Amino acid sequence: MSDCFDYLIVGAGAAGLSLAYHLQRAGLTSKRILLIDRAPKAGNDRTWCFWEAGESPFEPLVFRRWERVAFHGENFSAVLSLLPYRYKMIRSADFYAFFEDWLPLQTNIERRFLDVVAVEDGGDHARVIARDGTVLCGEWAFSSVMFAPPCAQGDAQVHCWWQHFLGWVVRAPRAAFDPETATLMDFRVAQGEGEVRFVYVLPFDAHTALVEFTVFSRAVWAREAYCDPLRAYLCEHLGLREYAVLEEELGVIPMTDARFAAEQGRVIRIGTAGGDTKPSTGYTFQRVQRRTQAIARALAQGRTPRRQPSFRRARHALFDSVLLNVLDERRDRGVHVFTDLFARNPTARVLRFLDEDTSLLEELCVMSSVNMRAFLTATAAVLLKRLRAAFG
Ligand SMILES: Cc1cc2nc3c(=O)[nH]c(=O)nc-3n(C[C@H](O)[C@H](O)[C@H](O)COP(=O)(O)OP(=O)(O)OC[C@H]3O[C@@H](n4cnc5c(N)ncnc54)[C@H](O)[C@@H]3O)c2cc1C
Repeated sequence: MSDCFDYLIVGAGAAGLSLAYHLQRAGLTSKRILLIDRAPKAGNDRTWCFWEAGESPFEPLVFRRWERVAFHGENFSAVLSLLPYRYKMIRSADFYAFFEDWLPLQTNIERRFLDVVAVEDGGDHARVIARDGTVLCGEWAFSSVMFAPPCAQGDAQVHCWWQHFLGWVVRAPRAAFDPETATLMDFRVAQGEGEVRFVYVLPFDAHTALVEFTVFSRAVWAREAYCDPLRAYLCEHLGLREYAVLEEELGVIPMTDARFAAEQGRVIRIGTAGGDTKPSTGYTFQRVQRRTQAIARALAQGRTPRRQPSFRRARHALFDSVLLNVLDERRDRGVHVFTDLFARNPTARVLRFLDEDTSLLEELCVMSSVNMRAFLTATAAVLLKRLRAAFG
């Protein structure tokens, strides 16, 4: 016998918890919802940064916000105003703690801790199977569990890159940071062949910041490999030889145009597992908010929560593939591409473009600001890959 619910939410991380929240806000409080995760959350396992023009659905949880960012590229350094956007940071510990208080108040949401081994489409319902043999059913299942890597090196039809990073929350003995200015990308670090490397600096106050050494590449690094370049950056660019490391954040995010099995009948995948990570930047949190809000809205209006095809999304998916192709085939260096983008466009246009909110005209402006030859060759290569994938 299986337990049946209206909605099964599998994975209670950023996407699963956000979906639960947006379902309630959309008025679906009479639906029986089951929220499943392997284990309760503990501590600050990640920090989410994103930009937005208005208020976040989780605005009270925003730990820090900045109206300007520093960018250091190739022969270009500037402090850029983000307005009307703000760059914001939410610490996952605060996000999880909010839900620890909020969930018990939602009488229609039940929580269970299970190690899920399969989420299946059953035709007119979805089924979730746990390692201990528990079987659950729902009208819909929304899963953010990634059962297999989204792509593999060697698949000629897709680009399979990773964004990987090590960040330290450092406490300096003297005032070393400008609390009003976050550093979005600092490329003044040795660039490896076929890789993109840069540093983020996210100041909490004059003495404390999250400093993150980030790499885009085909293969991830062992933890130790980030330590020396991170220490070198702290010393050379921030003048810090002595500091306390209060927290560490190690992360890997897929940057791929591989097709995610995002929807299979009654199973809808959300979050990174559902392809909500922007392939060209790794940013996910805001896309998760948009997606889970759209799902909640659709269900509340009695529509299907499946995504509708969109020309805008298809266009931006092409831009993402083209950028990955430029990097993968080394048609231009990452530092050059990002410098062109930020030096030759108003910052708000770049952010709107990365949010996929630009008009065609703005997209032409963005395209004409980068190395046209490299990008046109990459566009041709991507279209050819797609044709090959479609026709074998
Ligand atoms: C360290 C780090 C920092 C990041 N920083 C940013 C950032 O600054 N900005 C941004 O936009 N994005 C960022 N990301 C990317 C992305 O926003 C996060 O990975 C985000 O948490 C993705 O949400 P999710 O719900 O898809 O996955 P998760 O938050 O990882 O949630 C998946 C959930 O599924 C559960 N689960 C897994 N397997 C099972 C199983 N078999 N059974 C039951 N439950 C299971 C997990 O316990 C987890 O709770 C970051 C990622 C990492 C790793």
